[in-house]
Amino acid sequence: MRRSERQGKGGVFVVAEIRNGRTHSCTYELTSKARELADSRGTSVTVVVLRAPAADEPRELFLYGADEVLLVEDRRLASLDALVQARIVARLIEEGDPEIVLAPATTTGRTVLPAVAALVETGLTADCTGLSIDDETGLLLQTRPAIGGNVMATIKTPDHLPQMATVRPKTFPVAPPRERPGRIERPRLDEALFASSVVCLSDEVVAGDETNIQDLDVVVSGGKGLKRPEGFALIRELARLLDGGVGASRPTVEAKWMAYPHQVGLSGKVVAPRVYIAAGISGAVQHLAGMQTAETIIAINKDPEAPIFRVADVALCGDLYDIVPRLIEALDRERG
Ligand code: FAD
Repeated sequence: MRRSERQGKGGVFVVAEIRNGRTHSCTYELTSKARELADSRGTSVTVVVLRAPAADEPRELFLYGADEVLLVEDRRLASLDALVQARIVARLIEEGDPEIVLAPATTTGRTVLPAVAALVETGLTADCTGLSIDDETGLLLQTRPAIGGNVMATIKTPDHLPQMATVRPKTFPVAPPRERPGRIERPRLDEALFASSVVCLSDEVVAGDETNIQDLDVVVSGGKGLKRPEGFALIRELARLLDGGVGASRPTVEAKWMAYPHQVGLSGKVVAPRVYIAAGISGAVQHLAGMQTAETIIAINKDPEAPIFRVADVALCGDLYDIVPRLIEALDRERG
C-alpha cells in the first residue's frame, strides 16, 4: 500500500524458515540483522513462525534479537501451501503494520513472499546480499547483484509500505546469543485463511540433497576442469575425508554431473564455510557470488591466470588429477 495509507509502526518482521518442524539457522541470521536494523530505527523485531503444532516454544529467537514471536500452529501447516502461508503472513502484516518485512531467500521464502507482496500491495526485492538503513531518509537500502552479477544494485522502496526483501542464507552472521525478554503471541486467525486446494499425497527427500551444503564447515566443489562426470568421485572422497559436502559450478550441474542442490553461485546456493576448496573452477563472478565469504578459500587450477586465484587464500596451481589424489592420500595417512 502507499505510504500515506500505512504508518509502519510495527517495526521489523522476519518470516521464519521452518524445516522438518525446526527453526532453520537462516532465521537466526535474519533475526540478528533485523535487530541491527530495528535498533537504528528505534523499533522492535517480530518473528512470524508458521508451523505444525510442536512441543517446544521457539524461545531461542529471543537470544538473537526478537522482541516478539507471532506463533501460528496448525497441522495444515505441516506441508508447504504457498497461498495459505502468504494469506496468513499478509494478514499478520495488515494487523501488525511493520515498516520492514524480511524472509530468507530459500525455496519457501522465494515462493511465499512474492504472493505476500502482491496481497499487501507493496514491492519486493528478492535475493538481497546487503541491507542497511539510509541515514538521511530512514529507508531500507536493499542491495543485490544485478545484470548477471556484474553490478550491485541498491534498491529503495520510498512510496510503499512495508519495505520487503528476501535475503540469501549465509549473507549475515548469527549474532552472539544474548539473554533478553520476549513474548510469544498466538494470533487468532480466520478459518478461511487456511482454505486450500492442495492435497499433499506424500513427502519425498530428493536423492543427493540430504545434507544442505549451506550448513557445512567444509565444502569441496568441482568445476568443468574435471572434464568428465566421474571426476566428482575424487571431489566426493576429498569432501568425505574432511567431513564436508560437495559443491559444483553451474556448467557441471547443467551437464547433469551433479544435482542442482549442490550448485554454488548466483543462481545456486550461497555458502560461507570455514574452508571452501574449488577444483577446476575458473572463478567467474557468478560463482564467486556464492562462495567468496568463505573463511579460507583453497583453489586448484592448472591456469596460473585463473580468476579464482584472485580470491584464494591458498593457490594450488597444477593438474587437479595430480593434486586432489595427493591430498586424499595425505588425509588418508593422517587418519590412519
Ligand atoms: P570453466 O569456466 O570452463 O572453468 C574450468 C576451469 O578448470 C578453468 O579455469 C581451467 O583452467 C581449469 N582446469 C581445466 N582442467 C584442469 C585440470 N586438469 N586441473 C585443474 N584445473 C583445470 N556459475 C556458477 O558456477 N554458479 C552459478 O550459480 C552461476 N550462475 C550464473 C548466472 C548467470 C545469470 C550467468 C550468466 C552465469 C552463471 N554462471 C554460474 C556461469 C558462470 O558465468 C561460469 O560460466 C561458470 O562458473 C564456469 O564454470 P567452471 O569454472 O566450472 O568452468
